[in-house]
Amino acid sequence: MDPRLRGDDFNIAGRIVDNSTDKIVILDRDGVINQDSDTYIKSPEEWIPLQGSIEAIAQLNRNGYRVFIFTNQSGLARGYFTEETLNLMHAKMARMLDKAGGKIERIFYCPHSPDDECECRKPKIGMLKQIEKHVGHSLETALVVGDSKKDIEAAIKIGAKPHLVLTGKTTSAPDWGIDNLQVFANLKAFAESVCNH
Ligand SMILES: [Mg+2]
Ligand SMILES: [Zn+2]
Repeated sequence: MDPRLRGDDFNIAGRIVDNSTDKIVILDRDGVINQDSDTYIKSPEEWIPLQGSIEAIAQLNRNGYRVFIFTNQSGLARGYFTEETLNLMHAKMARMLDKAGGKIERIFYCPHSPDDECECRKPKIGMLKQIEKHVGHSLETALVVGDSKKDIEAAIKIGAKPHLVLTGKTTSAPDWGIDNLQVFANLKAFAESVCNH
């Protein structure tokens, strides 16, 4: 047997399943799923979903997409909230998703400040590399959705497909000179487009 093939690369009929065709969506959080704030999202009460975003994630799931989050949370390093509070925000999101029949497979966050010069803070690609490791293949067919240039830059660096929504830091189609950038009004419009193709 080819040593590169693991046991779970075979389905019950014994044929090779190509994991690289995995349907993967990677979302930024603030300004994509929930309302952003210049004073940071510091509590579950301040974590308020954008119109249609919860249903958009459920729709992606129903269409076979695995959905991940990659989010810069420097409010942790700045002492604005604790990891425990962040978990409570994410528990609130998970409850809302569960009601809608949706699920985030895993949340990757950068807890550092810009001064920490870590490898995970976007536009660096540390979190995307962790997702690659988690799924076990490259992200070249993955769809990345963000509201700021940092998200888009990270997506391009790792070779994924960049998508911008206009519900956060960026409110009109930008002139960033990025040829393959797809722009959507919001996450629901993105999900409709992806699921109806
Ligand atoms: Mg954002
Ligand atoms: Zn970091």
